[in-house]
Amino acid sequence: MRTTSLLIDGDILIDAGTGVGDLSLERLAAIDHVFITHAHLDHIACLPLMIDSVGDMRATPITMHATAQTLEIIRKHIFNWQIWPDFSVIPSAEQPFLRFATIEVGQPVVLGARTITPLPATHTVPAVGYHLHDRTSGASLAFSGDTSICDPLWDAVNAIDDLRYLIIEAAFANRERELALLSKHLCPSLLLTELEKLRSRPEVLVTHAKPSQVQQIAQEIAAGSGPHRPRMLNAGTILEF
Ligand SMILES: [Zn+2]
Ligand SMILES: [Zn+2]
Repeated sequence: MRTTSLLIDGDILIDAGTGVGDLSLERLAAIDHVFITHAHLDHIACLPLMIDSVGDMRATPITMHATAQTLEIIRKHIFNWQIWPDFSVIPSAEQPFLRFATIEVGQPVVLGARTITPLPATHTVPAVGYHLHDRTSGASLAFSGDTSICDPLWDAVNAIDDLRYLIIEAAFANRERELALLSKHLCPSLLLTELEKLRSRPEVLVTHAKPSQVQQIAQEIAAGSGPHRPRMLNAGTILEF
């Protein structure tokens, strides 16, 4: 019953879906950066609300990172004074609660020992995945975001030489394969075909399953062949590296 949100070290969020609702006010207030994959509601639903909740608890703005196309969509349709106020000028333009930062595929953002680099993705709206690298541990995690068949994603993922985890989506069961293709998502059969393009051996975790199809998707993935043996990523899972 939760949608996409990955918390990194307590201060960085990748996407702000309804999973954010599991965090306490103190943990919400500690988030300095939010990296958005794309503008769909299941990935941004809690962003406007969390800014309103923690804005006056923080000394610095939350920085929202997204591509220029995604920023334009979110600013036009969410922070437009009709759906929600424009928190990039509240309480003042000089010291706002929210700051927008433009990112580009392949261009790394360095935050301490962590580097976050947008990855290519194919979806119905402009979308990216993310590559998280930690310099201290010398390990990486890649997250597809919402994507369908996407060779540029695999080119980028195969160029990561220390990949420990790959989190990838499978939104629909195989019976909805046509709908998965139409809505530019993956189903287990498409996912397993895509994984044939992966050359390294990270732990592969599957996310974004439609709540009513989770069991079916898990069964179809478990029944598949191939070297990667993906497993479902459950809400609340902690990955350490
Ligand atoms: Zn989407
Ligand atoms: Zn989604």
